[in-house]
Amino acid sequence: MLPTPIYNFSAGPAILPESVLRTAQSEMFDYNGTGFSVMTMSHRSDVFMSILYHAEQDLRQLMDIPDNYKVLFLQGGASAQFNMVVMNLANGFKRVDSVVTGNWSRIAHSQMGKLSDVDVHLAAHGGEQFNYTNLPPVSSWDIDPKSAFVHFVINETVHGLQYREVPKLEDGMPPLVCDMSSEILSRKINVSDFGVIYAGAQKNIGPSGATIVIIREDLLDRCSSHIPDVWNYKAHIEKQGMYNTPATYPIYISGLVFRWLQSQGGVEQMETINTLKAKTLYEAIDNSGGFYINKVHPGARSKMNVIFHTGNKELDELFAQESTTRGLQLLRGYKSMGGMRASIYNAMTLQGVEALIDFMQEFQRRYG
Ligand SMILES: *Cc1c(COP(=O)(O)O)cnc(C)c1O
Repeated sequence: MLPTPIYNFSAGPAILPESVLRTAQSEMFDYNGTGFSVMTMSHRSDVFMSILYHAEQDLRQLMDIPDNYKVLFLQGGASAQFNMVVMNLANGFKRVDSVVTGNWSRIAHSQMGKLSDVDVHLAAHGGEQFNYTNLPPVSSWDIDPKSAFVHFVINETVHGLQYREVPKLEDGMPPLVCDMSSEILSRKINVSDFGVIYAGAQKNIGPSGATIVIIREDLLDRCSSHIPDVWNYKAHIEKQGMYNTPATYPIYISGLVFRWLQSQGGVEQMETINTLKAKTLYEAIDNSGGFYINKVHPGARSKMNVIFHTGNKELDELFAQESTTRGLQLLRGYKSMGGMRASIYNAMTLQGVEALIDFMQEFQRRYG
């Protein structure tokens, strides 16, 4: 028997609000009197078109997305965007600037040059500078105003790093392209500071399968008709997101999450709760007298993915095992990192974080 409640600290696919799952359950066989499931209806039906329309409108409302930005729900995950941004936005450019700050931006950096002759210039390297325990400040990024764009990851899901102050470039600088997968909708950001924002849904929004792309309209002029339509932002937009079959069910669940966010007071309220959750957990780590360790510079600590370890591999493993039997699930760190990682996205409650801290303190009393 599993204990209840269960708190799910998975980094992704991650926790969803219980009320969203309950709604999905109740609508599983009969969506809104149609007699069938969202999973089994045509993506071109009025019913699904309305689901997609409202998902987009609610996302626009939550993020305050200006009218000169287009929104797409694509497939292929955030990983596909590593290449799509280059294919679509770097035509006719010699260089893109890439900021490496952790696992995901490192992978993006290694992929962006494929299928393109563009020079992927390393604008900053947080691994070489700080061993991924701090973030290179925007003022130190080596950017060429003539680059096609500047790519960065705002929250490094694996290394537990987050730009606490949202990066912004001066006028005349290339557009910022931001992987927001593991923090989208967790705090207020100014969309117009970005050229493109993208995010796989499975961290802070919904199930895997949908990828959100928010793109400034004028950048679509760069999309060449030589790009196959399935990878072409402009083609997707011209077909209203229906170039081919979108991930209908993940979009439906994402839409339910957007409405849940609205009912919780929107992004502003989320930011307040997320700040409190992160502060509480980091304080517990810092006040453990060195039993729990997080080496990330305080100004770069992620409010979404909190990493910690005991300095002893066997003890870390015991922590992962014992916490599981207490209903604290999926706390094992990323495979290359070891230790623990608590992902505390929007849907994780303060009670969940407090339950984790109670367990951490008890574990320390027994093994400290
Ligand atoms: C998980 C993650 C990815 C990879 O997402 P996929 O949807 O699996 O391609 C990319 N970037 C960040 C920041 C992530 O957290």
